[in-house]
Amino acid sequence: MTEKPLILVTNDDGIRSPGIRALAEVAKAFGEVRVVAPETNRSGVAHCLSLLHPLRCTEHEPGWWGVDGTPSDCVYLAVHEILNRPPAMVLSGINAGPNLSYDVHYSGTVAAAYEAALLGLPAIALSSTDPKADFVDAARAVAGLIEMTLRNGLPKDVTLNVNIPPGRPTKYQMTFLGHRLFLHRVHRREDPRGSPYYWIGGVPDVPADVPGSDCDAVSRGWISITPLSLDFTHTTALREDMQELGFEGAESVPNPYSPRRFGASPYGRPSE
Ligand code: MN
Repeated sequence: MTEKPLILVTNDDGIRSPGIRALAEVAKAFGEVRVVAPETNRSGVAHCLSLLHPLRCTEHEPGWWGVDGTPSDCVYLAVHEILNRPPAMVLSGINAGPNLSYDVHYSGTVAAAYEAALLGLPAIALSSTDPKADFVDAARAVAGLIEMTLRNGLPKDVTLNVNIPPGRPTKYQMTFLGHRLFLHRVHRREDPRGSPYYWIGGVPDVPADVPGSDCDAVSRGWISITPLSLDFTHTTALREDMQELGFEGAESVPNPYSPRRFGASPYGRPSE
């Protein structure tokens, strides 16, 4: 009998969030599921790794571990220490709230998928655009996507950022990152002793309606799938735009990693 593939599930909302429970439940249909997630809500910590303090890991129930660290810590610890074999796939979510547009730079949900991709593992970050949505419905809506990614893998250095609108969406669209504006970014308050304190992070403005963007897809009730690159290099700027700005003397050589194709993973994914 062949071993079932191992699926690692994590998130940034914490191990007690309903979104991770629903995702783990759906993933069980496709493999052996292990959950390694932050003990508390670590939303917005991006790709932070805890390098300056130790990490504690507690098994809450069989196959479910809580770590007092960040989402990236969880993936790192799971792959290198907790799991007894390499995962075939990493799922991060389902986040309570969207990770659209440049949210991806702040999101712990997306960063956990990035961390997995850095380890050569196919990974999907999943977010429900409605924080109060039914996560069971949201998880079921992406079951087909999870199964397909497990079967076919992903291009090297690519991770998927998926946003799921409420209801029972069935249509998918491949998208690029759109633009979202945030209003009232700083809220100034006063503590009981009269000293000011601040809440940062504003309410998002209505997503710009740019066809093909992630914001547009979810506003139409479609599941948005954005392939994200681990390589932050701006290829057009490297080749053209910077020259126009006076950098023409600075030599650049063609990127040997581009175009990137399916590659061997050190963690046992088949190389193609
Ligand atoms: Mn979150």
